[in-house]
Amino acid sequence: MSTSTSAKFINSVYQTVLTRNPGETEFHQAVHEVFESLAPVIDRHPEYSESAVLQRICEPERQIIFRVPWIDDHNRVHINRGFRVQFNSALGPYKGGLRFHPSVLLGTVKFLGFEQIFKNALTGLPIGGGKGGSDFDPKGKSDREVMRFCQSFMTELHRHIGQYVDVPAGDIGVGGREIGYLFGQYKRLTNAYESGVITGKGIGWGGSRARTEATGYGAVIFAQEMLATRDQSFDGRKVLVSGSGNVALYAIQKVQQLGGTVVGASDSQGAVYDPDGIDFDLLRQIKEDERARISEYAERKGGRVQYRTSGSLWSIAKEEQIDVALPCATQNELNAEDARTLVNSGVQAVAEGANMPSTPDAVHTFQKANVLFGPGKAANAGGVATSALEMQQNASRDSWTFEYTEQRLTDIMKRLHRSVQQTADEYGHPGDYVMGANIHGFSLVADAMIAQGVI
Ligand code: NDP
Repeated sequence: MSTSTSAKFINSVYQTVLTRNPGETEFHQAVHEVFESLAPVIDRHPEYSESAVLQRICEPERQIIFRVPWIDDHNRVHINRGFRVQFNSALGPYKGGLRFHPSVLLGTVKFLGFEQIFKNALTGLPIGGGKGGSDFDPKGKSDREVMRFCQSFMTELHRHIGQYVDVPAGDIGVGGREIGYLFGQYKRLTNAYESGVITGKGIGWGGSRARTEATGYGAVIFAQEMLATRDQSFDGRKVLVSGSGNVALYAIQKVQQLGGTVVGASDSQGAVYDPDGIDFDLLRQIKEDERARISEYAERKGGRVQYRTSGSLWSIAKEEQIDVALPCATQNELNAEDARTLVNSGVQAVAEGANMPSTPDAVHTFQKANVLFGPGKAANAGGVATSALEMQQNASRDSWTFEYTEQRLTDIMKRLHRSVQQTADEYGHPGDYVMGANIHGFSLVADAMIAQGVI
């Protein structure tokens, strides 16, 4: 096929995705973003179109939607909706987190599951792609309420998962507390201590050291590798990190370990600008231990710290020259205007700690300005990679040291960076990490799907 014939074919598949999945705009966006890169691969590999890999990869192998009833502390009954989308098992058991947030719809879970297929492939580890969640909001709920919700959620989910079938983990709104309640209920229902059924567990009961840190650390290592291609590093650099959850916190810590200064962070209600550099220990205590708002940080640290509720975090780049941006909160949180602000500020590199945080226009703005841009499916793969390391430890009934696990994570991120970079070079787009990640991830999955027949 010529590139233009391939592009037409890809567009026709995309049109089918739009009609078959009405209203699922985030899923459409995720598919479009991958498809934009694929014409040269379809050109080179006619077998991909002949065996309908593109059509099959957009159709989840299984989608489960279920009712989650639970009772609050005042004896009131609530009903939430639970989801698990088992997207693709060509490379291994489905693997991907659970998101608990009021905004979660089937289309949200499908966008995340679709991204997960390629991200997991890029880690080079034997894991397929899946994702799940609920429109339940853990914010403002007591521990007992969260426990009852998690138990009810797992009462249905347990039928569909297993260490060789589907292995959930955390995501927005699902951290160590929720994983504990979910695992406890799974164990109770199955009467088996199947450690490898869920990752993100506590260190004392089957969890992996460095898993909590892995996504944030991995994103910074990826950014460091990108910077190194231009003989630059984090040392002495000014950085903005959006969010202040699991990914953001440990991205902040790793930037500081590498000599950079993080001057801003945020949550869904506002942003802090701290020209002297975010105090990681204080922010971690407020967000992780106390589950409080980021506004607390400004109140407690005082001095030159400013708390802002209007305008986005990225507008700090109008006042301070920013070298690296790490969006680590949620999807579509960085738009074209934010991207222009960062470009005007002189930003050198952007690595996505979150999934799809930059809008398509923002990505094009960065790429046009020759900014090093690491898409989420490559830059934030350290979390799921370390989850796979947790599964390895569970399977061998072993427990590795922090140093060893972090070293494995670092090696995986460096190898991942290299493979994405080499693929971009091979396809004539040097430095284009979006093309590199999409093509490499897709090819690995497509080859396995073809080998396994039309299923
Ligand atoms: P957390 O729940 O720990 O933190 C999310 C952070 O983002 C919070 O600070 C939250 O603020 C903020 N946030 C959420 N929604 C919005 C919004 N609409 N606008 C602005 N800020 C918002 O989640 P994680 O840190 O685990 O996940 C963050 C991102 O990273 C997600 O995109 C997730 O899919 C992705 N990711 C996570 C991995 C992991 O290992 N945890 C692995 C790979 C990707 P608030 O507290 O006010 O809600």
